[in-house]
Amino acid sequence: MFHLVLAACLAAQPATCQSRLLPAGDAPTREDCELRAAPIARDWLARHPDLTGNGPRCVETAELPALTVQEVAPGIQVHQGAMAQISPQNRGRIANLSFVLGDSVAVIDAGGSRAEAEALYAAIRQITDKPISHLILTHMHPDHILGAEVFSEAGATIVADARLPDAVALRADSWMASIPRQIGEAAFAGTRAARVDQTVDAPQELSLGDRKLVLTPVAPAHTGSDMTVLDDDTGTLFTGDLVFLGLTPSLDGSLSGWLDWMAQPPDPLPALIVPGHGPVTESWDEAIAPQDRYLTALRDATRDAISAGLPLSRAIPAIVAAMKPVSEGWADFHDTTARNASAAYAELEWE
Ligand SMILES: [Zn+2]
Repeated sequence: MFHLVLAACLAAQPATCQSRLLPAGDAPTREDCELRAAPIARDWLARHPDLTGNGPRCVETAELPALTVQEVAPGIQVHQGAMAQISPQNRGRIANLSFVLGDSVAVIDAGGSRAEAEALYAAIRQITDKPISHLILTHMHPDHILGAEVFSEAGATIVADARLPDAVALRADSWMASIPRQIGEAAFAGTRAARVDQTVDAPQELSLGDRKLVLTPVAPAHTGSDMTVLDDDTGTLFTGDLVFLGLTPSLDGSLSGWLDWMAQPPDPLPALIVPGHGPVTESWDEAIAPQDRYLTALRDATRDAISAGLPLSRAIPAIVAAMKPVSEGWADFHDTTARNASAAYAELEWE
């Protein structure tokens, strides 16, 4: 397969340029790709007025920069993100991103930038040329969703929890301003929030032809728009950020809801768990236990601070200090825990 690549620069910073991959330009031969390249590039640039571009060219799949992926079960590939908060060093590439190969391909989470999603798309195309029928977003956080437009351009239906579009609409402007400062303008170039095509408000099946995924919306927990994805064939559960391993869990939904979700394990237990951050694991207990300890300690320390009558400003350092015993093994413990303390305080204050 051949792919259309465009040299694109930020209109506001003409020296900041990157190659952009335009999936609409995919073609079986170089000649086909080159024939269609100019109009596709022109249309795409018209829809991205923040970029200027020139020199569309056609390259083979093997030449595209691609994310590293690993087959963790038959037909299931996972890219494990960096175990850190977003930074210029990791270019915002911190979330786990997966894809499932059936008669068509379903992608689970799109990454935090257009560039990351293009590299995920390249990884998929280096494995299969089957159509990408679906992109499933596990929840509303930017490190998981902001690459979605690439898969929309590739023809995928974007599927998410019914609560996700409103949650993203509230936050998108702030992300567009803050994330380039956190990861670098070049790393974020061309990134936009994509529209969701299909929303899910009750458990439902999604067919990839010979393979079936089960999507299950979850009551507010990590965020207010969490959804799990189960691959029926292999018993692989993609939890999104309902499970963190190694990177400190971040609370942006409901602490009590998250503890409740962990207290009701799926039946039967999944054979494999793909968390939103951290390594894939076969054991439900191994997946859940560290996070359960952390979130239980957060609840208890927050309740103690509230019953001691501490105002929020004094409660946050007190909660972080009280949680020191469960800090081991968590990357970015201090800063994320301070933010979690604030969220937990706001929730539990009214208990
Ligand atoms: Zn998240």
